[in-house]
Amino acid sequence: MCYHFYQSYRNQRAAKAKYTLAIKTGREKMDDVIVVGGGPIGSYTAYLLADSGFQVSLFEEDEEVGKNVICTGIIGKEPFERFNLPEKAILSQIKSVTFFSPSLIALNFTFPDVIAYVVDRTVFDKELLRRAKEKGTGVQLGRHVQSIRICEDFAELEVSGRDLKKKERAKVIVLATGGNYSLQRSVRLAEVPGFLYGAQMETEMKELTQTEIYLGRQICPGSFAWAVPLSGLRSRIGVLVKNKGGLYLKRFVEERLRERVREKNVKILQKRIAYGPLKRTVKHRVLVVGEAAGQVKTTTGGGISYGLLCSEIAVEVLKKAFEKRDLSERKLADYDRLWRKKLEGELRMGHLARRFFEKLSDKHIDKIFSFIQKNRKVAKAIEEKFDFDHHSGIISFGMNLFRKII
Ligand SMILES: Cc1cc2nc3c(=O)[nH]c(=O)nc-3n(C[C@H](O)[C@H](O)[C@H](O)COP(=O)(O)OP(=O)(O)OC[C@H]3O[C@@H](n4cnc5c(N)ncnc54)[C@H](O)[C@@H]3O)c2cc1C
Repeated sequence: MCYHFYQSYRNQRAAKAKYTLAIKTGREKMDDVIVVGGGPIGSYTAYLLADSGFQVSLFEEDEEVGKNVICTGIIGKEPFERFNLPEKAILSQIKSVTFFSPSLIALNFTFPDVIAYVVDRTVFDKELLRRAKEKGTGVQLGRHVQSIRICEDFAELEVSGRDLKKKERAKVIVLATGGNYSLQRSVRLAEVPGFLYGAQMETEMKELTQTEIYLGRQICPGSFAWAVPLSGLRSRIGVLVKNKGGLYLKRFVEERLRERVREKNVKILQKRIAYGPLKRTVKHRVLVVGEAAGQVKTTTGGGISYGLLCSEIAVEVLKKAFEKRDLSERKLADYDRLWRKKLEGELRMGHLARRFFEKLSDKHIDKIFSFIQKNRKVAKAIEEKFDFDHHSGIISFGMNLFRKII
């Protein structure tokens, strides 16, 4: 029974007892869960599921994970420890950040302890996948999932790879496809409401001992640009904008870092980043996690920690749904409700902050910087309120303060 007939079928059965999970597909074996996507969120979800005793497969379209990733790789210390993330992927630590206003007024914030780590995404992604595999996940690389068919008793994927085209069935599908939304569309889950664009280069930069953030309409309208030290002289330099990422990044390097970045014609890589979550992140026998669900900070575009948190919630909900033998959309909606309870307020505040910030002129930003520079107490309060992964506290504080200053 295809998706199109599913709605009327569900209505007919609404009054009846719970779903029987008996598998009448004529196949000998069917996975409990298939995870689509071998990024950090897909691998972590597969790891947790396999660790809980589920029979899990993971399909990843690339032959190797972590190879074509465009990411600065910053992950807060708290989630890093909480999710026991791979230490061997750490390239550097962030303990201090300097912000520069449009006219280069500098504000340095130094924290008592490390606030975040910068990782090598190739090592990071590979290690998370290895852990999932070690727990028993059947990993299939070089397998592109083309479509999903949702049926009453199972979901079926059409999978293609080198010289291969086949169908795979599972009781539940977890979509962790990052910024690729074609499968969501195929099961009628609307796309994320918008996108930002991240453009980045990796090169040598002189005198970069701590993370630097640059603001200003010329450099990065309504948003920010960054330079993050890795190891030795290596650095990641990037911008987060609404469009023309490459253009803004070139301008940023030319206007702000010319004396410190010597390498010419450095390759610029760009990628769109989800801005705002999907309206709904579950369907009958389907859950969406990570960037695929738009679980990305609306302030910075960071998606790893929120995605990992939502993986945990998804797995807890799935455990209960399997126990109750109920994999209906209604039951899986617990996931949708629970992750929104944790993160939706943050996403909304980030959006408000961005709208507020977009209206500020360079003069306004300079004025705010001068004010904080002269008021040590305010700078101290900012340091104390700063939380790497939850920005709503500092946003409320900042917006109230800035309204008084400008
Ligand atoms: C310039 C830039 C800087 C960033 N910096 C940071 C940062 O510092 N910190 C942070 O937390 N986040 C950052 N992000 C965002 C971060 O990279 C993403 O949020 C994160 O990678 C999301 O992980 P994911 O597992 O959900 O998706 P992804 O990492 O995108 O993984 C999805 C996987 O699914 C696979 N896939 C997709 N479709 C299919 C299919 N149909 N069949 C099979 N496989 C499929 C893809 O090949 C991919 O491997 C940055 C993004 C950009 C662009």
